[in-house]
Amino acid sequence: MTAQRARPGRTVDIDVAVVGAGFAGLYMLHRLRGLGLRARVFERGSDVGGTWYWNRYPGARCDIESVDYCYSFSGELLREWAWTERYATQPEILRYLHHVAGRLGLRRDIQLGTNVTSLRYDEPGNRWLVSAGGEPVLARHCVLAVGNLSSVNRPDLAGLDDFLGEWHHTAQWPAGGVDFRGKRVGVVGTGSTAIQAIPQIAKHAGELYVFQRTPNYSMPAQNRPLPPAELREVVSSYPARRRAAERSDAGVPVPPPVRSALEVSAEERRRMYEAGWRRGGINALSYAFTDFFTDERANVTAQEFAREKIRGIVRDRWVAAALCPAHHIGTKRTCVDAGYFETYNRQNVHLVDVRTSPIRRVTPHGLETADREYPLDTIVFAIGFDAITGALLEIDIRGRGGEPLAGKWSHGPRSYLGLSVAGFPNLFIITGPGSPSVLSNMVVSIEQHVDWIADCLAYLEGRGLDRIEASEAAEDGWVRHVNDIADGTLYPRAASWYVGANIPGKPRVFMPYVGGCGTYRRECEEVAERGYAGFVLDGTEVPPSRP
Ligand code: NAP
Repeated sequence: MTAQRARPGRTVDIDVAVVGAGFAGLYMLHRLRGLGLRARVFERGSDVGGTWYWNRYPGARCDIESVDYCYSFSGELLREWAWTERYATQPEILRYLHHVAGRLGLRRDIQLGTNVTSLRYDEPGNRWLVSAGGEPVLARHCVLAVGNLSSVNRPDLAGLDDFLGEWHHTAQWPAGGVDFRGKRVGVVGTGSTAIQAIPQIAKHAGELYVFQRTPNYSMPAQNRPLPPAELREVVSSYPARRRAAERSDAGVPVPPPVRSALEVSAEERRRMYEAGWRRGGINALSYAFTDFFTDERANVTAQEFAREKIRGIVRDRWVAAALCPAHHIGTKRTCVDAGYFETYNRQNVHLVDVRTSPIRRVTPHGLETADREYPLDTIVFAIGFDAITGALLEIDIRGRGGEPLAGKWSHGPRSYLGLSVAGFPNLFIITGPGSPSVLSNMVVSIEQHVDWIADCLAYLEGRGLDRIEASEAAEDGWVRHVNDIADGTLYPRAASWYVGANIPGKPRVFMPYVGGCGTYRRECEEVAERGYAGFVLDGTEVPPSRP
């Protein structure tokens, strides 16, 4: 734990460099400090918050309940923060993260407005050279806390530079907001982001055109205020609630289903789905039956229920039909909304099906599809992210022998536990590919990874060990395992961002671990208990538990 002092004008030596100051980076810094390590966090935004700093579009809100989408490591933080709604808005979550950063005094070790462009492993010195503009930094360890949905999928439409109106990507939303009053607005995309933004924009726009390529399933949020008494009750029994979330599949404290959708009557299935719909939220239907994600016939029963709901809400039959998705429900991230389908009953909202009539280009005055030109004052691109690997590969990361991570991952990401990559010693990824990450409550997964990494560093320090690296064998075994369990589900069948299908040229590989948070946590615990099985510690390999 002996960080060297900075040498003015040359390099700065630290113990740990952390990239990103969202939920993951903030907690990582707190844990590193607790170990007495000298750490510095590099954040490209002008303030902390990560996802919740960038995604300020109208209607932005979390789709995990606020009492579960927060840190659990500090009883004080839990008691002193009062969530006001079942699902927190972006401004409320950002205020929470500012509060945490202030309360824990984290800001003095966070370098804002700093883009890490490259990370190079210097093998003889066993250090990572961090390039982020300014003085070079040498770090013994690096932690990538860059987020899964933070590399923006930029619009790539001919003519965009000549558009005379204004345009915005939802993940780079201006801090001052956008004035839609009376404007002709086009929204491109109908994923989770658009489904939240569209009802809000529709309230102000003169005319709103939604350019939809693929319809999505969306569950009603059934959001409501969170009365202080209810919050106090949750907090009073919080450890049990959190333990249940940690041991669950999705990182939320919901009892797992016990029956197959195919072993109950049609009436019973409907009763279960109706109850889920009334309860609302992302798991409204998926938590009804055990075989939702694994049996096509079971999944179809939920699909039909969801499509029937859409047809029941949207009055225009053509629009309702165009809004009905066809993919297996849940295999693309299910959306959560507040009045999304109802919005299409407004006179000023128009659905444009760009599957049948694709967008050709942006004209100076609007968007042109194969059919016609739509005159617009403002275009909103809600077209998502280069998910999971995008933000990692934006950094030029070179491991042992100068090997680029981008080269190693040219056929899809490979990692051990989603935490570590063979050939890249002393480098950790928080919620990386091969971990439950995007299939789970992110904050639960983040806390688990941060704690695992901090415990690992304490283990190394305690034994005077300088280097930890995943072994090739352990990585191979983990990648096979992640693929095998994914292949037992319906997930890989959908053209989703989980498989990189939204980014042209990206390898089509199912990236997250579908085995569930609880199972994954046990795997990680076992690895640590066995002295970091599957890792090479200062040149000595600890045999992996998985062949
Ligand atoms: P997304 O799910 O990738 O959706 C992007 C949308 O843009 C899709 O409808 C896509 O159509 C469309 N699109 C992309 N390129 C297009 C093009 N060239 N022309 C026409 N349409 C195009 O992105 P997102 O909505 O930003 O959501 C990403 C993830 O962020 C979510 O799945 C969720 O995990 C997370 N998120 C969470 C919340 C929350 O907590 N409530 C809110 C927002 C986002 P195709 O489907 O045809 O590709």
